[in-house]
Amino acid sequence: MTVHPNDPVLREARMHVVLPGAAVSARISSSDPCLRGKSASFVRHIGVDLAGTPLDGTFLAGQSFGVVVPGTDAKGRPHKVRLYSIASPSYGEDGLGRIISTTCKRTIEEVPDENDPARSDGHPLFLGVCSNWLCDRAVGDEVRVSGPNGKRFVLPVDPSAHDYLFLATGTGIAPFRGMLHELLVGPPEHSPARDGWTGPTQSRIHLVMGSPYRTDLLYDDWFRNLATAHPNFSYHPVISREPLLHPGHGPHTHHYVDARMEYFRPLLESNRTLIYACGLAGMQVGIFQALAVAGLDSGYVTVHNEISAIAPSEWTTEQIKRRIRPTHRCMLEVY
Ligand SMILES: Cc1cc2nc3c(=O)[nH]c(=O)nc-3n(C[C@H](O)[C@H](O)[C@H](O)COP(=O)(O)OP(=O)(O)OC[C@H]3O[C@@H](n4cnc5c(N)ncnc54)[C@H](O)[C@@H]3O)c2cc1C
Repeated sequence: MTVHPNDPVLREARMHVVLPGAAVSARISSSDPCLRGKSASFVRHIGVDLAGTPLDGTFLAGQSFGVVVPGTDAKGRPHKVRLYSIASPSYGEDGLGRIISTTCKRTIEEVPDENDPARSDGHPLFLGVCSNWLCDRAVGDEVRVSGPNGKRFVLPVDPSAHDYLFLATGTGIAPFRGMLHELLVGPPEHSPARDGWTGPTQSRIHLVMGSPYRTDLLYDDWFRNLATAHPNFSYHPVISREPLLHPGHGPHTHHYVDARMEYFRPLLESNRTLIYACGLAGMQVGIFQALAVAGLDSGYVTVHNEISAIAPSEWTTEQIKRRIRPTHRCMLEVY
C-alpha cells in the first residue's frame, strides 16, 4: 500500500474479538430518546454494559458492534447480526471502556407484502427486526453482542496533527459524538485514559449534520454547548425538508458545503485536513462531486482514468459510485 506524506496514521483498532456466531451476553445500561423534539422518527441513545465479556475495553470511537436478536426469522434461521456504530468515546460512557452506547433508529416503514397476511389488504406496516427489538429493551435486559467491527473509521494516533470535516446524516452522527468527546471533552478524572490525554485539541473541526426536520436533530444541545465552549469547533445543522431561513442553505449536507465552498476552502485546501462522512448510503456521491467541481478533490479521492476527461459537473451518480475512490484522508461509513 502506498503511504503519502499527509496520510494519517490511524489508531490500531481491534477487530472481531467476538464473532456474531458466538455473541456474548451484555446488559442494557440506559435507553433514552435523543431527538431534539417530537418527531415522526424514534431514535434512542442506548447504553450497553460489557462487564464480564471479552469486549470490555476493546472499542475505539468510530467502530461498530453487532447485535444478535434472539429467535429465528420467517424462514426459521437464526436472525442475522445487525451492526450499530458506537456513540461513545474509546474510554466508554463510564471512562473505563466498559459501557458503550449507540444511537438506534427504529425502522418503521410501509412495505406491502401479499404473501404476508399481516401486511396485505392495505395494512403494510413493516417493523425492522433488530432496531425495534433493541429500542424495546429495558435497563438490565440482556443483549447478545459481537465486535468490534471496522478499522478505518477511527481517529488518528495524533489527533492534533489534523483538522477535520465531519459530515453526518441521521444516525450517522453516532461516531462523531464519541470522537468529539475524545477530541474536546476528554476522559473523566477517574479514567485510566486520562493519563494519555493532553487536553482539548486546538485543531479546526467542522461538523455538518443533516436532518430532515429540526426536531430530528440528534444530541443537538450537546453539540451546541460544545461549539460555545470550543471556538475551534463549528456545528452546522442542515435541515432538508423545512423552508429555508437563510438564502444559500442547501437541503442536504453536500449542498450546504457546496454553497459555502469559499468558507470551507481554506480547511479543505490544507493538507492537515481529514474528511469523515457517516450516514445514508449514497451521501458520498454529492460530496465527491462538490469537491471535484471546486477543484478540491485532490488528496481526498482518486478519479479513475475512465472519467478523468469528463467535467466533474457531468459525472453521473453511477460513475461516481464506481469510479471515484476515497483516499486515506477520506473515511466513509455509509449504510
Ligand atoms: C457499519 C454500520 C453501522 C450502523 N450504525 C447504525 C447506527 O448507529 N444506528 C442505527 O440505527 N443503524 C445503524 N446501522 C443500520 C443497522 O445495522 C440496521 O440495518 C438497522 O437498524 C435496520 O435493522 P432492522 O433489523 O431494524 O431492520 P431489518 O428487519 O433488517 O429491515 C431492514 C430493511 O429491509 C427491508 N426488509 C427486511 N425484511 C423485510 C420484509 N420481510 N418485508 C419487506 N421489507 C423487508 C426493509 O426495507 C427494511 O428497511 C448501521 C449499519 C452498518 C452497516
